[in-house]
Amino acid sequence: RHYCDSEKPRCAGCDELIFSNEYTHAEGQNWHLKHFCCFDCDCVLAGVVYLMVNDKPVCKSCYVKNHAAICQGCHNAIDPEVQRVTYNNFNWHAAQECFLCSCCSKCLIGQRFIPEEGMVFCSVECKEKMRS
Ligand SMILES: [Zn+2]
Ligand SMILES: [Zn+2]
Ligand SMILES: [Zn+2]
Ligand SMILES: [Zn+2]
Repeated sequence: RHYCDSEKPRCAGCDELIFSNEYTHAEGQNWHLKHFCCFDCDCVLAGVVYLMVNDKPVCKSCYVKNHAAICQGCHNAIDPEVQRVTYNNFNWHAAQECFLCSCCSKCLIGQRFIPEEGMVFCSVECKEKMRS
């Protein structure tokens, strides 16, 4: 190993040593400030909220715009920092007006529920009613 390697952090983005005192430590690796940026809009992510999408970092606004889960209940994007209910590929805001029985509108947060093709039901009776 080269002597320099132990002295200076190596940037995981460009694979060069980082000589500046300012750099980002993220995802268990070190980065030049400019080399840890949003994969979608290229903004520098040092000190801001970011999320990993397919191993690529994206800033929060790009995440909400391009990658956010869509709520099955209200069909709006789900902010990555708020609580949500996930079942298979479906997502809901963990909110009374979003995660509810498709038939009788009973709130299902913390309740047993029966999922079917993006809909959720509070009971077999409601599921049967919806089907007929
Ligand atoms: Zn770099
Ligand atoms: Zn961005
Ligand atoms: Zn919703
Ligand atoms: Zn119901």
